[in-house]
Amino acid sequence: ERLVTSSADDVERAAEAALRPKRLEEFVGQSVVRDQLSLVLQAALARGAAPDHVLLSGPPGLGKTTLAMIIASELGTSLRVTSGPAIQHAGDLAAVLSSLEEGEVLFIDEIHRLARPAEELLYVAMEDFRVDVVVGKGAGASAIPLALPPFTVVGATTRAGLLPAPLRDRFGFTGHLDFYDAPELERVILRSAGLLGVEIHHAAAHEIAGRSRGTPRIANRLLRRVRDWAQVRGDGRLDLTAARAALEVYEVDPVGLDRLDRSVLDALCRRFAGGPVGLSTLAMTVGEEPDTVETVAEPFLVREGFVARTPRGRVATAQAWSHLGLTPPAGAPG
Ligand code: ADP
Repeated sequence: ERLVTSSADDVERAAEAALRPKRLEEFVGQSVVRDQLSLVLQAALARGAAPDHVLLSGPPGLGKTTLAMIIASELGTSLRVTSGPAIQHAGDLAAVLSSLEEGEVLFIDEIHRLARPAEELLYVAMEDFRVDVVVGKGAGASAIPLALPPFTVVGATTRAGLLPAPLRDRFGFTGHLDFYDAPELERVILRSAGLLGVEIHHAAAHEIAGRSRGTPRIANRLLRRVRDWAQVRGDGRLDLTAARAALEVYEVDPVGLDRLDRSVLDALCRRFAGGPVGLSTLAMTVGEEPDTVETVAEPFLVREGFVARTPRGRVATAQAWSHLGLTPPAGAPG
């Protein structure tokens, strides 16, 4: 299990639940999205109506699920949770939709992975608050329209570009979450330490923030590992020594790159002489799905200037070569 992966397993989901901000004002950073969302919610509350459907996009671990929960709690309503891959058939979605109560928020994680028939059912439900329930089979089947009470869909996606336009157009508000900067991550870490009841030195929070890959999920995870180290090998204090030692044990590199990031860079430089190389070839070389490389590793590598995307493929930058301690061959791109 990679420590710096930005997706969460079930055990981690439980640990995360305790650290989730419950109100919009507790949500650190993302000031543009927060401000816009606050307007949407306040206006809906003032009108006493369900707000427009909300689409949240951005890499994993940046707070999409947290914001969906906040939207429901700010509206004083309950949240129903499902995901694109969990819905196998349009009928599954019809069942979820027809059980919604007035004003509820339906969170659909990884909405870009909904199957086409479910997606089509969803447009209609979002637009007209109606589902067509199919009764019977074969030639005798008929669709009975069922009216739904007003509700709000919050969709989350790591790939906004993959959403078909008709679905994208049903969302009245789209917020794009971007990686957090170090001072924001420091605030996340200090807040979480407070909730965990541990004292942390400022320098330690700073160190962890710098290695968290711009991602609150990773910041919280590294904080828990530093706490473990301090408890078992240190004197219980979360200071700079503990932070550095713990991060070394867990092989988090000084700029926060994880094993996948490093193997992508390594493959680009050593196997492909700096590129350009296509996404699927690169993914195959590091033994991952192209989707994982593209949505998990690449956005951060590109943002930090290690990898450039060109029309002919991915290219290692001079910074990538120097991070790996290698000299680029003459004529290498970047
Ligand atoms: P996503 O749904 O985008 O993958 P989550 O909403 O599950 O991400 O967030 C992952 C973890 O990071 C949560 O436990 C949450 O507590 C924390 N987190 C995310 N964004 C913030 C934020 N802006 N402020 C504080 N904590 C955050």
